[in-house]
Amino acid sequence: MDPFTRSGAELETFLAGEPRYRIAQVRAWLARGVDDPQAMTDLPVTLRASLHEHLDPPPRVVRRSVADDGLTHKVLLEMGAGERREAVESVLMLYPRTARRRSARATVCVSTQAGCAMGCPFCATGQAGFRRQLTVGEIVRQVTVMQRLLAERGAAGRDGLGPDGSPASATPWPDVPDHVTNVVFMGMGEPLANLEPSLDAVRWLVGQFGLSARSITVSTIGLVPGIRRLEGLGLPVRLAISLHAPNDALRNDLVPANRQFPLREVMESASSYRRTIGRRVSFEYVLIDGLNDQPQHARELAALLARSDAHVNLIPMNPTPAVPWQAPDPAVQRRFTDVLHDNGVAATIRHNRGTEIDAACGQLYANYRMGSGARLPVAVGAAERLTAGDPG
Ligand code: SAH
Ligand code: SF4
Repeated sequence: MDPFTRSGAELETFLAGEPRYRIAQVRAWLARGVDDPQAMTDLPVTLRASLHEHLDPPPRVVRRSVADDGLTHKVLLEMGAGERREAVESVLMLYPRTARRRSARATVCVSTQAGCAMGCPFCATGQAGFRRQLTVGEIVRQVTVMQRLLAERGAAGRDGLGPDGSPASATPWPDVPDHVTNVVFMGMGEPLANLEPSLDAVRWLVGQFGLSARSITVSTIGLVPGIRRLEGLGLPVRLAISLHAPNDALRNDLVPANRQFPLREVMESASSYRRTIGRRVSFEYVLIDGLNDQPQHARELAALLARSDAHVNLIPMNPTPAVPWQAPDPAVQRRFTDVLHDNGVAATIRHNRGTEIDAACGQLYANYRMGSGARLPVAVGAAERLTAGDPG
């Protein structure tokens, strides 16, 4: 039984014989990150036992890596059993309060699939291929695992969140929230290729977990039907579109899904989202040395985004196993940004967290063997074509 499915229908059916308030009690525990029914102390012992028997087991934290002086934590979670057993990675990024950042943040980056079938050639997840979809419970429990770690961080000797993995009490903690404040769907997988569970996860985070929709970001490669469905939720969720190339010829190879949903359609769905939801869409653009980082690319990108009130996040390519490409020199990155600014497009270079523990964008692959999973047929060969200098 998965208590996180749409409006908790499965949970309601399961608790049908119980007093109404039991549902609220169980939900309150789940929202606090307690998903072991034995620890739900306000429930009768018999109910705890039967929940324990029927509830999907929580993910097991099998490894935790820490970087950036304790501000970035990657966990490796084992989910499912038998044939369905998979390892999935999630990242917690802590942002203490600073003069410029008035309130501290704790952001969880969640995975929506084990692997990814989209096959973008610069992305480790894409190179590993697709293993299976995650259920809605497996998505939201990545958030509740982090919620619990944050809440317990002060507990001495526990597996709290001491910045260097030491007992939390031994190391001073940065001034960060004791609960999750933001969730970004930017981990492993393409959220809109696992549409219903991803949308359900958004609904649960807003409706049951109490997160503001404004603090949730869904990142997509541009699967147009999924963008429309997200728009249909009518929630002010931030939409991020991974663009990476300013024209179809180059994007067909860098983002193979572009052959199904070309730039014109992607941009149309972005402006429709902007109009309906009233939030500015952001665009991700991985800067890859010599491939998409030239001034002419920046000019083309500016033309594409003209009058769209968009914001571009430029991500210098993170090193990725089995991929020969790298980030351009800082001077080239700055030149690209300057051209965008000169043409009236808002853009920032985003320096990734956790590169040294493989926790940054495009680095999550849970140590899968490269190429062992399924791929979108059009993805096969994209990298080879580009490396051979034949973008088309
Ligand atoms: N599948 C979705 C969400 C997960 S990827 C998407 O692609 O949008 C999150 C972000 O990491 C995307 O913008 C993706 O393009 C970027 N990314 C992938 N590989 C990268 C790499 N090697 N270096 C930097 N960013 C990368
Ligand atoms: Fe999948 Fe996103 Fe990686 Fe592309 S960039 S392979 S869509 S996770």
